[in-house]
Amino acid sequence: MKKTLIAGNWKMYKTPTEAVEFLNNLMTKKLLYDDREILVCPSFTSLYPASQVLQKTSSIKLGAQNVCCQKEGAFTGEVSAIMLKDIGVEYAICGHSERRQLFGEEDGIVNKKIKMALQFDICPILCIGETLEERNTNKTYDIIKGQLTNSLNEVSGSSEFVVAYEPVWAIGTGLSATPEQAEEVHLYIRKLLEEMFGKETAQNIRLLYGGSVKPDNVDSLMRQNNIDGVLVGGASLDVDFFARIIDYK
Ligand code: PEP
Repeated sequence: MKKTLIAGNWKMYKTPTEAVEFLNNLMTKKLLYDDREILVCPSFTSLYPASQVLQKTSSIKLGAQNVCCQKEGAFTGEVSAIMLKDIGVEYAICGHSERRQLFGEEDGIVNKKIKMALQFDICPILCIGETLEERNTNKTYDIIKGQLTNSLNEVSGSSEFVVAYEPVWAIGTGLSATPEQAEEVHLYIRKLLEEMFGKETAQNIRLLYGGSVKPDNVDSLMRQNNIDGVLVGGASLDVDFFARIIDYK
């Protein structure tokens, strides 16, 4: 059974002390579901203490917000997939729009990161999405197709990865895509994945929506056929909001 994935991207918020406090608090909520997986993606400095706390539970997974595209070597300031794997990290966000826009990451680098994560058995979460200008000039599908196919170049359909559709105009703006807008793009992504990997494989790939997901819009988003989970930024920083999102109806 394909489990839905409810992922929190904490961006550059929460110290290690705050991260531990949050996770201890989240665990008291007893969020146990057979049909959904819970994931938190703290900053690098919080990953190790978070992994120690999460040893007490199997129901919350740990993810990194980024991963180096190189295996090891003289790459000052980078963190490798093998280092992440060693402390129990199971997922890595690749190509978040903030990395693309603020740190110049392009599809070629994102592709290398995805392959590096896979090599060390870390599940990459590939983020793709159009800007407002691209949407307003009817370029959404072209952008999605380019980012998806380039970032997944030479990635095998037998490897486990997740795709997150995150319209840039909806991230951190409070302006979420409507469920219909999100579903329309998700369906398009599913069709592209079918062309790339075949129907069965495409059906099994989880497609997340991200962009101002909150307790009050998660239920309608999760009711869409091709939305298999959500990637949540701001609202995942508040334990009660995040718990309500995990508990979507
Ligand atoms: C994100 O950072 O991936 C995100 C979707 O942020 P927000 O939920 O704050 O829009």
